[in-house]
Amino acid sequence: MDYKDLRALMVSTQLIPRGIKDKRVLDAMERVPRHLFVDSAARAYAYADMPLPIGEGQTISQPYMVAVMTELLELNGTEKVLEIGIGSGYQTAVLAELSKDVFTIERIVSLAEKAKKRFQDLSYENIHLKTGDGTLGWPEEAPFDRIIITAGAPDIPSPLIEQLAEGGVMVIPVGGLSSQQLRKSRKNRGNLIHEYHTPCVFVPLLGQYAWHNDD
Ligand code: SAM
Repeated sequence: MDYKDLRALMVSTQLIPRGIKDKRVLDAMERVPRHLFVDSAARAYAYADMPLPIGEGQTISQPYMVAVMTELLELNGTEKVLEIGIGSGYQTAVLAELSKDVFTIERIVSLAEKAKKRFQDLSYENIHLKTGDGTLGWPEEAPFDRIIITAGAPDIPSPLIEQLAEGGVMVIPVGGLSSQQLRKSRKNRGNLIHEYHTPCVFVPLLGQYAWHNDD
């Protein structure tokens, strides 16, 4: 079976049966070559129903988790998106397929460099990348229509609330170090209205407005 067939199988067996409905999300995940976002040794498992190690103690998220978070963002192609936690860059690429511009921040320089090379090889021109503490956001580029955090946080970092546009949506795993729950928050007249979604397990969001190395 080739990678295109494995992608179609991933969509039909992992995403649709679990309730992913947004056709744009399903199509994007059928297009983006996930196997190019993992090291060659892990390529055989790239479309398996699980997260995979990507080095530096970090992971590429399970396909279903990428699909859920992306669907919750309600993207129509016009949005300016902020992503915290590039990891492999796979989620970033899915976002870039579905929005106008993606601004993305990674704290681990080696992962950011690898992801940057992948974005260049795949000719993504709407991805803007920087390294640093994503809990501070990207104030020079704010406000953002959508914000996605792909690491587990003890709470929503306050700079990210400030940088979310009015009417904008944020998706973030919130909870303890060992498990979290996906939260979707919409800004309405300056206040966040929360919805609570699936339980999940993410690596920790480390930074000034999140977990600290000694937590
Ligand atoms: N969505 C990614 C993918 O598709 O490969 C996986 C992201 S991985 C689960 C979480 C990432 O968040 C890690 O690469 C980690 O280094 C990063 N991270 C953690 N805290 C961060 C912070 N304060 N700022 C930026 N990145 C952070």
